[in-house]
Amino acid sequence: GAERTKNVLILMSDTGGGHRASAEAIRDAFRLEFGDEYQIFVKDVWKEYAGWPLNDMERQYKFMVKHGQLWKFAFHGSSPRWVHGSYLAAIAAFYAKEVEAGLMKYKPDIIISVHPLMQHIPLWVLKWQGLQKKVIFVTVITDLNTCHRTWFHASVNRCYCPSEEVAKRALVDGLEHSQTRVFGLPVRPSFCRAIIAKDKLREELEMDHHLPAVLLMGGGEGMGPVKKTAKALGEALFDEALDKPIGQIVIICGRNQLLASTLQSIQWKVPIKIRGFETQMEKWMGACDCIITKAGPGTIAEALIRGLPIILNDFIPGQEVGNVPYVVDNGAGVFSKSPKETASLVAQWFGPKKDELKRMSQNALKLAQPDAVFNIVRDIDELARQRGPMASIPYTLTSSFSYQMRND
Ligand code: UDP
Repeated sequence: GAERTKNVLILMSDTGGGHRASAEAIRDAFRLEFGDEYQIFVKDVWKEYAGWPLNDMERQYKFMVKHGQLWKFAFHGSSPRWVHGSYLAAIAAFYAKEVEAGLMKYKPDIIISVHPLMQHIPLWVLKWQGLQKKVIFVTVITDLNTCHRTWFHASVNRCYCPSEEVAKRALVDGLEHSQTRVFGLPVRPSFCRAIIAKDKLREELEMDHHLPAVLLMGGGEGMGPVKKTAKALGEALFDEALDKPIGQIVIICGRNQLLASTLQSIQWKVPIKIRGFETQMEKWMGACDCIITKAGPGTIAEALIRGLPIILNDFIPGQEVGNVPYVVDNGAGVFSKSPKETASLVAQWFGPKKDELKRMSQNALKLAQPDAVFNIVRDIDELARQRGPMASIPYTLTSSFSYQMRND
């Protein structure tokens, strides 16, 4: 007989743009591969169900990232297991009920976490519910290299690591080799399929048809030295002697509206597009020839698939540091914190150093892992099949949290 549709709950948080992009990538790949065998829910469960501080994570994240030192402290300071363990235990005790209500609502057969803080509490709740053996729980890590230890939890069925480096850390942190898989970072299928030619894209996006194009961005929040870099590019990509531009600029500001409106108020000598949060990043990347960005893993993985040489101009202390050598050591880009240096490099790439641009583009394509997301969902499907036909899972509300906490 036909098996019932299985429910998949993807736990994410709208901090930055990367977690949402990964969650959407997994959702879309499930649909493409398995149609309606699976019903996918992408939920920022903490935002919907938990009170402070978890539903405030976005705001706190932005605040801490803006104050780099604070973030660095939070990142490293909370690293030892006993610190984050007891911190999370305190939060869990307070919010377990709401978290449980979130799980109840979606009755997941499979839970996928794409967030470093979303292993412990859901796994605790499953344990209290006696559902640990029935519900499949997997983690999809979205940091390429130096990732936080809260990503790792020994009770998961699988931990998908984007790189061998992360897999090594998982083993050090107590996971078994059989629990880990290395497929790459999940990128939305729209990046890997149906590739449209550059001139078509430029027409659709109303860009100049001939001038080489640089894409400038800073993750979902439009972070990093975007404004200074934009101004430097405006100068470097205009040839004073010939009185004409040698390149064009696309700036994607994400949710940073102040940045977008500031940039729009400037007079530019070169063709420029200034945009807010874009939902079709694959088109903008496909229409450009190189990218300048902070070292966000999502943006990097996408740029590699599009074969864009990358200039990294910033990184979030902690989780993004390791992304820099990943790009630079593999010859797919360079790191520069100086807007002037960045701009003159782009001018060189668009002029005498065309060959270097080409070489880096080829290296980027070599590093790209467009199939990662498909390999991940196929492996999850395989896990589900090994369980056999899924009986409906007995989700019931328990009412004895305080008792269970004391006995845990
Ligand atoms: N992104 C997007 N639209 C925008 C800006 C960013 O879809 O206007 C996506 C981008 O394609 C990438 C993600 O947001 O998938 C950014 O993730 P990354 O890991 O680079 O940085 P984060 O924003 O999470 O710090």
